[in-house]
Amino acid sequence: MVCKELNLGLTRPFIWTFIIADVSSPIIGADFLKHFNLLIDLKKKRLMDVETSLFTPCVFSNIVHPSILTIDANISFKNILSEYPDLSNPSLISKSASHGTTLHIITTGPPVTARPRRLHPKLYDAVKVEFEFLLAQGIIRPSKSPWSSPLHVMPKSDSTVRPVGDYRQLNSVTERFLPKAAEQQYLLSEFLKGSKGKKDSKPLNWSSEAITAFQGCKQALADAALLVHPSPSAPLALHKTSSEKSYSAYDRELLAIYSAIRLFRYMLESRDFTVFTDHKPLTYAFRQKSDKCSPWQIRQLDFISQFTTNIVHIPGSDNIAADVLSRVSAITFPSQIDYDCISETQQTDQELHTLIASGTSLKLKKVTFPNSSTEIMCDLSTGTARPYIPKQHRQDVFSAMHNLSHPGIRRSVHLMKQRFVWPSISPHVAKWARHCLACQKSKIHRHTRSPLSSFQEPSQRFDHVHLHLIGPLPPSNGYTYCLTMIDRFSKWPEAQPLKDITA
Ligand SMILES: [Zn+2]
Repeated sequence: MVCKELNLGLTRPFIWTFIIADVSSPIIGADFLKHFNLLIDLKKKRLMDVETSLFTPCVFSNIVHPSILTIDANISFKNILSEYPDLSNPSLISKSASHGTTLHIITTGPPVTARPRRLHPKLYDAVKVEFEFLLAQGIIRPSKSPWSSPLHVMPKSDSTVRPVGDYRQLNSVTERFLPKAAEQQYLLSEFLKGSKGKKDSKPLNWSSEAITAFQGCKQALADAALLVHPSPSAPLALHKTSSEKSYSAYDRELLAIYSAIRLFRYMLESRDFTVFTDHKPLTYAFRQKSDKCSPWQIRQLDFISQFTTNIVHIPGSDNIAADVLSRVSAITFPSQIDYDCISETQQTDQELHTLIASGTSLKLKKVTFPNSSTEIMCDLSTGTARPYIPKQHRQDVFSAMHNLSHPGIRRSVHLMKQRFVWPSISPHVAKWARHCLACQKSKIHRHTRSPLSSFQEPSQRFDHVHLHLIGPLPPSNGYTYCLTMIDRFSKWPEAQPLKDITA
């Protein structure tokens, strides 16, 4: 079978799937004439195209084969094959569905779309042939629907290609979001346990629970498909906050809006929506004169204005949704430092009592930490409460802090001094950081650069000869090593193959 374009001199192409047979004169079937609306005018000896009223002249001729058979009359399956003529008919055009079911998919909201992409010229030609074939077969038809899915071209094993639709985006809106799917489908899947397939005659107990479960599954599928489309009539708002640090506040906020619109373009396109920003000057962006803007700003404003010009100020404190997303650093992790234990040791710590008695410059005061009931002696002289760490806890506290990221000595000291206090904290921390095994194993502390050394120049041949053994190399006539000799004075090289390098 092969798809061919027939030129009948009727100015339109006739693409059809033909059976290639070893006959002296080709035969056009009645299905072909019917599909292309062609009439045979025997009296005037011509072929009429009803659609264009054009005709092409024909001649009568005698043929040897009165007909051709697609089925061998001698094979035993002859009767079955003649009962189902579709099996030997490559064309799909004359086939009609044996059922009366039509499927309606009611869609709401913005369509699932894919942007047109370029194809490699080779692939494009192959895809074009395939689509023309499908079109001719009546399997596909031209469409102006905004719904579209991307086309992928898969190589087949015979080095031809097969165009396939990528319906993942479409499928994802129907297959996901089935709440409690396993629970709902449990009862129904129980029925299938130990089933022998179609031949199974085991009766099903189609109880009222089973009916409920079945209806539930159907409803869940229907709801899931509806859930994915946002209500087109609901007011739409874009809340934004920015985290780009290298621009001015205005540019940064503008960039954030621009990027957000680009990201959510598929949802925002041809919709009325409002942009909420915590940067007030932006609300005047569309009212200012364009000569005040940088080309960069004009470009971004131009893009934004294709979607909306409605920018409204919202104070930062009210912009909760955006703030929650951008202040990730506020999330803390559980501390490894046992403050209850430290507080207990502080009571009996001699060093601390001596320190208080000596009239230190530290402002030592008992502080209750949030989420804790114990009071800890802290220094308040720097503005932040730095807990006093008794001797036996100091190294643990250091480890808890240092082991997070193994910062260098200076950074470790700074980190500890900011958060804790005890006499001679800096030398202690510096010493521990220097002795940290993990740091020593993975960090380069010293760079050794050896100076260029000078050789004495040789004054005659063979004064100084460089000898070098290279290998093992891939064997050649049993040799795997090479002795190289270079005379420094003349630079003369010699190489001698060696079978082994033992003395
Ligand atoms: Zn370390």
